[in-house]
Amino acid sequence: MRIGIGYDIHRYAEDPPLVLGGVHFPDEPGLSGHSDADAVLHAIIDAMLGAAGLGDIGRHFPPDDPAYAGADSRVLLRRALEMVQETGYQVENIDVTVIAERPKLAPHVSNMVLAIAQALSVEPHRVNLKATTNEGIGAIGRGEGIAAMAVALLAER
Ligand code: MG
Repeated sequence: MRIGIGYDIHRYAEDPPLVLGGVHFPDEPGLSGHSDADAVLHAIIDAMLGAAGLGDIGRHFPPDDPAYAGADSRVLLRRALEMVQETGYQVENIDVTVIAERPKLAPHVSNMVLAIAQALSVEPHRVNLKATTNEGIGAIGRGEGIAAMAVALLAER
């Protein structure tokens, strides 16, 4: 078994959609970033790469590489999964905490879990996602952006 941790934060931009956990929120302001700015999937990618000893997301998907402009982060997640599998490991489980003042994520948690599980080709019970606010404290509390933390546990294939 190997364990890894991931963290990401993205600032709000102006234009919708918000993309979080592979789910589109068409009526919410999006996040700024080189790719689709999906902080949840980026945190998961870093957790998986970390668990496999493969560095971090910036090493494999450089933010100055035009190939990743506007990229669908589910594609990056799939590529990270392939790299992890090449090291002889598979995903045992993923746990994520999303920190956001808005939108209210509770009604969308199951959709995000399904989207993440589908991208990883694992059963949904292997993915857990929790949503919380920052209780109005600090930058996230002021609604300046969304952050995500993730842990990935890998098992030998
Ligand atoms: Mg990111």
